[in-house]
Amino acid sequence: MEYPFSESYKIKMVEPLYRSNLQERAQWIKQADYNLFNLKSNQVYIDLLTDSGTGSMSHHQWAAMMQGDESYAGASSYFQLKKAVKEIFGFDYFLPTHQGRAAENVLFSTLVKTGNIIPGNSHFDTTKGHIEFRGAHAIDCTIDEAFDTHADFPFKGNVDIQKLENVFISESADNIPFVILTLTNNTAGGQPVSMQNMREVSILCKKYSIALLYDSARFAENAYFIKLREVEYKNKTIREIVTEMYSYTDMMTMSSKKDGIVNIGGLIGLRSEEIFKKASTFNIMFEGFISYGGMAGRDMSALAVGLNEVLDFNYLETRIKQVEYLGNKLIEAGIPIQKPIGGHAIFVNATEFLVNVPREQFVAQTLAIELYLEAGVRGVEIGTLLADRDPQTRQNRYPRLELLRLAIPRRVYTNNHMDVVAHALIKIFERRNEISSGFEIMEEAPILRHFTVKLKKN
Ligand SMILES: *Cc1c(COP(=O)(O)O)cnc(C)c1O
Repeated sequence: MEYPFSESYKIKMVEPLYRSNLQERAQWIKQADYNLFNLKSNQVYIDLLTDSGTGSMSHHQWAAMMQGDESYAGASSYFQLKKAVKEIFGFDYFLPTHQGRAAENVLFSTLVKTGNIIPGNSHFDTTKGHIEFRGAHAIDCTIDEAFDTHADFPFKGNVDIQKLENVFISESADNIPFVILTLTNNTAGGQPVSMQNMREVSILCKKYSIALLYDSARFAENAYFIKLREVEYKNKTIREIVTEMYSYTDMMTMSSKKDGIVNIGGLIGLRSEEIFKKASTFNIMFEGFISYGGMAGRDMSALAVGLNEVLDFNYLETRIKQVEYLGNKLIEAGIPIQKPIGGHAIFVNATEFLVNVPREQFVAQTLAIELYLEAGVRGVEIGTLLADRDPQTRQNRYPRLELLRLAIPRRVYTNNHMDVVAHALIKIFERRNEISSGFEIMEEAPILRHFTVKLKKN
């Protein structure tokens, strides 16, 4: 008999949760205009809205917080973080920022001009926002397999090398400031990029003299998948894999709220002194002096520790196995989810789940609300509400997939919580044919409507 798998840590401090009843939840969600972003956190039992900034820090990180150096310039906390960035990613130059999009803002202010083309693998929404805000264009070169939720391809985050070279050929190289590889590919469902793909993208970029940037929010989860799924890396440590991954890139931006296992923070890593000097000016304007960039000293210290902790294979195995634990329970029950299971979240295919709800009544949002009512679990709609309206025609844009995302915070919930989530979804699945109507919009903002939209029941 195999030993049961268990967590690689134990719990030192707990935060009580309130288990509400159906009547309370029905009232709260109505008061929230059927928008899960409008709920108070104490109205939620298990919060799977996001894995961003919601992780639990270790006692080593809390100890580092207490030793944070809050000097304005040259704080020791800054040097601790600089050392971690050098040792882990190999970058000589680094700038702290208050979160990931701030790193994008600073670096893109330095490098992106109107009319530029920036190819990549399904750019994250803030990344795309910072590109388009500057009058440049993001071109998605992700492999086609990524869009088939049933295809069991091991590296659905990969770039299609031919698509990328076609962009290089049709555009002049000096109109492409850099290529972005997102690790893991969040938009495609937390799907990893293979080492081979990183190498091939790097070789192609060098051939055309185009720089490469890694959007690194989940770099360690990506490395874990390389170890498990790419045979040559089976016996390498996560640290060795990360070293090789970053040997292929020129720059990185990172939201530390994911694999930094801290609640706030971001950074830029660079090899070029020239870009560092230019970016430093924008960092001082937008973020703060270059030795803190919008972060408190204690937060930089906790991040320096978190970046090292996240490289521990036992931690990563605990983390990814929990996501798989939930995903496999749903698969066993016949619930349609995106496969293979990604690194940080489960994506439920809502159109295959609720077949009787018309597309124009927001199917994934309907499922998200059912799940909240059933068990107080908060997920998030990745569907028509998020996709917004076409800026010209003002018609709803229907994305290829209508998904309910259940993002798992790091080191926060136990597998008993995952059992509750699975049980709730299975109960809804059993009565799915009775659910035939969704929601209608009462009020919405002109852009990014999903955060503030007000809905009513149909
Ligand atoms: C979260 C995230 C960002 C943006 O980071 P914030 O810290 O939320 O500003 C950028 N890229 C990816 C892939 C992300 O997951």
